[in-house]
This record gives sequence, structure tokens and C-alpha cells, in this order.
Amino acid sequence: MKTFCGRANPTTGAMEWLEEDENYDYHQEIARSRYADMLHDKDRNMKYYQGIRAAVSRVKERGEKAIVLDIGTGTGLLSMMAASAGADFCYAIEVFKPMANAAVKIVEKNGFHDKIKVINKHSTEVTVGPDGDMQCRANILVTELFDTELIGEGALPTYEHAHKYLVQEGCEAVPHRATVYVQLVESKRMWSWNKLFPVRVEAEDGEKIVVSPSEMENCPGVPSVCDIQLNQMPSSDFTILSDVVTMFSVDFSKPVRSASTYYRVQLEPVKSGKAQIVLSWWDIDMDPSGTINCTMAPYWVKSTSAFQWRDHWMQCVYFLPNEEPVLQGEKVYLTACRDEYSVWYKLQKARGEDKADICVESPICRCQAHLLWNRPRFGELNDQNRTRQYIKSLMNVLRTDSVCLCISDGSLLPVLAHYLGAKQFFKANHLEDKIKILEVRPESLTPSHLEDKKISVLVGEPFFTTSLLPWHNLYFWYARTAVSKHLASNVTILPQSASLHMMIVEFQDLWRIRSPCGICEGFDVRTMDDMIKSSLDFRESKEAEPHPLWEYPCKSLSDPLEVLVFDFRETVPQHCLSTEGSVNLLRKGKSHGAVLWMEYHLTADISVSTGLMQISNEKGNCEWNPHCKQAVYFFSSVIESETLADLPSAVTYAINFDTKTGDIAMDFKL
Ligand code: SAH
Repeated sequence: MKTFCGRANPTTGAMEWLEEDENYDYHQEIARSRYADMLHDKDRNMKYYQGIRAAVSRVKERGEKAIVLDIGTGTGLLSMMAASAGADFCYAIEVFKPMANAAVKIVEKNGFHDKIKVINKHSTEVTVGPDGDMQCRANILVTELFDTELIGEGALPTYEHAHKYLVQEGCEAVPHRATVYVQLVESKRMWSWNKLFPVRVEAEDGEKIVVSPSEMENCPGVPSVCDIQLNQMPSSDFTILSDVVTMFSVDFSKPVRSASTYYRVQLEPVKSGKAQIVLSWWDIDMDPSGTINCTMAPYWVKSTSAFQWRDHWMQCVYFLPNEEPVLQGEKVYLTACRDEYSVWYKLQKARGEDKADICVESPICRCQAHLLWNRPRFGELNDQNRTRQYIKSLMNVLRTDSVCLCISDGSLLPVLAHYLGAKQFFKANHLEDKIKILEVRPESLTPSHLEDKKISVLVGEPFFTTSLLPWHNLYFWYARTAVSKHLASNVTILPQSASLHMMIVEFQDLWRIRSPCGICEGFDVRTMDDMIKSSLDFRESKEAEPHPLWEYPCKSLSDPLEVLVFDFRETVPQHCLSTEGSVNLLRKGKSHGAVLWMEYHLTADISVSTGLMQISNEKGNCEWNPHCKQAVYFFSSVIESETLADLPSAVTYAINFDTKTGDIAMDFKL
């Protein structure tokens, strides 16, 4: 079957109809899935195996048959562990059809088909009885249904149902329990992801401060979790205000309740400061005694030196609805509210306070800004260095009689320009009478929208919420082309141009997410590797993927290289822009892939980078723009060089920007 799906092209803005294969979503999901990362998570796998062995032994010691229910079996890994540990029978439930099919193959290949029955259903559809999916209820419940927030993937309702209908009372559960920990911190950096800070504008007639409206100031934000690689956050970027405390725990061997509830703890601040952020993570005990523990604790908490890198589980950053001053030693109460799928926090000074609205609705954005700007975008707008570059360049190009048009989503440029003295400002897509917001697409702009004036300054950051990959913001160029007839002959365009840059890198860890696993804890999971590979080859094999590289350390193996230039002073050309060449490898290491990013040249001598900020030392460690995602193109085979002598001296590349489709295609040869 073929389906046509309409979408706006993120680069050109054109509406296009794509013929979608019915398997497209499947392939996308598998290709970009976290299965590979989970299979590489040695610490997780080992501990599950230990926990499963222990649970099977406990059941056997009681003289019972070990009947396992594995909910969300994925590759079948945990069922195979149970079967190897001596379980008599395993029911392996998997809702995602391509995965269930893969599990059947993997179970077969590893010789467990007589011990493991794969059932392609959601666990809540599974039936028990002589004619049911399961002959009888299980006495061992094994699952791995957790996300960074623990409950975001629906673990609670799944457990609740399983205890009611699928497992025996007093069953063993692996994991046995999960515990959620919190720590209160002050962090200007993290707070800047949630609130708009005042912007200082040095204008000719003195300093002006742009402040956000009070509705924004008091807005509780959005409920979606902010999950990050907290281990990449330097300790200088936050101040610890409390010890780590246990917020709540869930015993998976007993009936679980998923209904909304709250938990409250008392905290005694270890330092005075502004409570802004609750950092949170969890651990799971694989056995009742808690001797087999798998923890997500960040570097400053964890005592063991052996860190397991993982991307499928990270840490959570929760924003308190408002910042609260706290005093060292003066107790405060932290409340975690949760519904079936998410958690949010409140801080109170006294125990009894606010009892009535304790289990308040999860935060809902009232100011609209949290719906328009995501966390990195807030961070970007709050970046004073970046703002300074824009202010400097606006001051260069603005005249008192300028007629400006800004094309960017949710941009502060019009406000800055207004404070800098521009009299007329139009904004495609509020300073009431000075800034006019045009709710019109660039191609539909008419002279009457502009009060029959010609645009003398066209500005953009550029930033568009539809952008996924760095070059999608080239939409600015297409929009500029669409409004050409409204531009004065001596128009100034800011940025005047953009450039695409590239560098070959070795990742410290990120390579794992796209690398085959082979044998996992003694089980052959190559079927999964093949499946991921064929999904990657399905359509997007030659595509880069977006990753925020400040969270994923890498070192540069080549110098950064400018590969393409886009001149916004001209309209988008009809022909493709292509380039090819080779880039020298300067350092030894594994060439995992190429990183690509955009730089915007606001004026002739002011540029901003959305990618590399600097290479920080002779080892090639890189510092990336913390607000942007960069494009990563993983090479299909990795070259490794121990010495510079055996380096292939260069990687050759061919990059093509198709101006019709807005796509950038690339090819590399090692
Ligand atoms: N158990 C595997 C895979 C874990 S990923 C391992 O540990 O390696 C979780 C899997 O559970 C996903 O494949 C997802 O599709 C599946 N899943 C989640 N909730 C489910 C449910 N209620 N019923 C069946 N499958 C579920």
C-alpha cells in the first residue's frame, strides 16, 4: 500500500506530498530507536541477568515451576536470560510488530523456541487460561519499561494491569523496586531554559532593559520532562542547595497503583540560595535485598568510578514554577505530584501550606512562550553573548528611517531593533504600534501589508521552529527570495550570508547508538543489528541526524572546514550548490563520522556559530554551541588509526545542496 503524506518542507517552506511506504514509520522507529543503545548497556544487561538468575532460584527453592512474564521483550533478551537461568517457561510480550517478529527470530536462533513464546500484543490485551495466550499466571515478572523519568513510557498502568490479571500474588519481580531521587539546585544556566531573562540593550541614548511580561514571569511552563546528559553539566554551572533525598519508590512485586498521587519530603538546605531546579534520577534494585543495583546517579553522587554511558536513560531537570529563596538550615517541603505518565514538583516553606491544592494539575503554559520556544531556544534567547552580536550588527545596519522586515519564529530582533531606534518594523508571523506582526506567509505578502513601503532592512536570526537539521533554517533564504519584490534596491540583509561547516570527529560514546552489538551477554542478537541496518538503508541511509553535541563529547580529527556558502544578498539560485574535496586527518583516533553546522554572517565582520565554538586543547576536545543541535553523519565503517603514520591522510567528501528540494546530500569516502 502507498500513502501520500503532506508536509511543509522545512528548508524551502513548500508544501509537498510524499509517497510514504506503509513501513516508513516502522523503519524510522527502528533506525532511530534506542534498542542498540540498550544492548550496549553492559551494566544494565549484567544486572538484569543477575537479578533474573536470583529470582529464578528463589522460585525454584520454593519448589515451584518458574513461569516468567516478560513485558516489552524487544529482542527477547530478558526472556532468553530467564530461560538460560532455568525458567520453565517464558511469555514474552511485545506490542511493536517488527520487534515481535525480530524476537521470534532471535529466540529461534539462540535455541529457545521451546521455552519462550513471543506474543505480539499489548500486555493489557493478553489473555490467561487454557485457550488463552498464557496457560496460567506467571510467578516471575520481568520488564524494562522505563524511560529517563521512570514512568513516562507507561510502566505504572502496565504493572497495575499485570498484577491484576497476569501474575500470581507474591510473584517475584525483576526489577524488584525503583527509587526516584531528587536534589535541589540553583542554576542560572538551567533556569535560562525556562524563563526569559531581562535583555540589556546599549542604545545611543543609554542602556535599556527589555523585560518579559509578568504573565511570562509567573508562568509555570510546560509539563514535558527535560531530560539531559547531566554528566556533561560542569559543577560550576549549578550550586547544590540540598542533599540527595529519596522522593518515592515503587515496589514492583506488589500491586501497583497508577492513579495520580503525590509524595512529600522535608529538605534542609545545605546552603542559602535561590531554589530553581529539581534534579532527579532513579535507580532500580534487581533483587529485594538491594544488592544488585543499577543507578542513573550523576558523577558527583556516584561513588563507583566505572561509569556506564547510556543514552536511553539520562537524568531529569524539573523547573520549579517560580524561584524560591531558601536559607541554609531552614526546612522546606518538596512535593512531587505525578499522574500515570509524568512527574512535576512544588516547593513550600511550611508543612501545612497549600494542602488543598497539593495534587494540582500538571503545569500548563499560560504565556504561550513555552509553547513557542523549547528549552534550548529559551537558552539561546538568554545568551547575552549572542544577543550582543545581534545588537552590534543591528546598530551597524539600522538607520532612523529604516523600514525593517524580520523573518524568524518568535524572535526578539524586532524588539531589539525598536530599542535601537528603528522607527518602522514589520514582523512576519507585539510593541504594538511600532512593531506590526504580519500573519502571512512570505510569498503572500502584499504592498498593503507594508503600507506600500519598500523594505530597507531584512533581518532574521534565522530561526524557525520547524527546523530539525542545521540547514533547515535556510528557509530564511527562500523567504527572502519570496519577498524580493518588496525589497528596496539598496536593501541590507542581515545575516548577509551563511556557511556550512564540517569536521571529522571521534565520539567518546555517541558512536554506540549506531553500532552493531553482535553478542549480548552471550546471546546472538545479530538479527537486531541487521534489522537496524536495513531500516537505516531503507531511505535515510545517506542522511545526517541532529544531536546536541554539548551533551556528547567528541574530539576533532580534522580541522573544521567551510564547505558551502549561501549568499542571502542574492535570491536562491536555480542550480544546485555542490562541492567536493578532501579533508586531512590531523589526529589519531577513530573516525566515527562528520559533524556539520551552520554559521551566520550577520555583517561583514560579525558572525555567529550554531556549531563549533572552539577546539579547546591540543587533544582536539571540542566546545559546541550549547543551544543548538548539530548534524551528525555516521560513517558506515569506522577507520581506526593508532599512529599518524598509518592514517589514511584524508577523508574525501561530496556535498550537494539541491536548491529545489532544500535537501543536502552527502557522501564520504575513507
Ligand atoms: N526487554 C527488552 C526491550 C526493552 S524496550 C530489553 O530489555 O532489552 C521496551 C519494549 O517494550 C519496547 O519494545 C516496547 O515496544 C515494548 N512495550 C512497552 N510497553 C508494552 C506493553 N504494555 N505491552 C507490550 N509491549 C510493550
